[in-house]
Amino acid sequence: MNTLSITPSQIIEYLYCPRYTFFEYVLDIPQYEEKYYKVIRGREVHLKRARENADYLRRRIGVVDKQLNQYLSNASLRGEVDEVLWLEDGTMAPLDYKFAVYKDKVFETYRTQLYCYAWLIEQNYGRPVKRAFLVYTRSQNKLVEIPVHPEHLEEVQQAATAISQIILQNHYPKATKYRKRCVNCTYRNVCTR
Ligand code: SF4
Repeated sequence: MNTLSITPSQIIEYLYCPRYTFFEYVLDIPQYEEKYYKVIRGREVHLKRARENADYLRRRIGVVDKQLNQYLSNASLRGEVDEVLWLEDGTMAPLDYKFAVYKDKVFETYRTQLYCYAWLIEQNYGRPVKRAFLVYTRSQNKLVEIPVHPEHLEEVQQAATAISQIILQNHYPKATKYRKRCVNCTYRNVCTR
């Protein structure tokens, strides 16, 4: 089967509800209203400052080399990684900055994004990725380590394949099993559940 070049955001949406993919990319119904430019710009300035001052964080996790703002792709996925890190134990890791406060729990969306980056790094650099890192810039640059296991990479790989199938074959997928998600969904008026 042919595959498309998918983004981490598409994978996050699909894992939230597979029908998002159908409504947004098959029926072309946009999900977001783009009206927060000023807020986004403010975040970008803040994040840029955090990245420029991050040497002490990298030392804490044993970074021996790094590449910043790397655009990576493989046969199914593409994305820009804030930092690609080489670690002293011979593995590699993605690091991502979040303009957010840490509240004792890492959102599933952040994890999924890092698993996507881990897959891209393994394929592009040929080295294992066993962990990933988040920096919460609104919690004094709190550094959080996320373990990366093979099943995490399998989950994003399977999602990428399923997304291609929905878009290329106009396949109408099953609804999410979490009915709570439908309450505030943009698509609830067109969805048949
Ligand atoms: S209404 Fe529910 S099932 Fe339908 S797209 Fe939204 S979240 Fe998915």
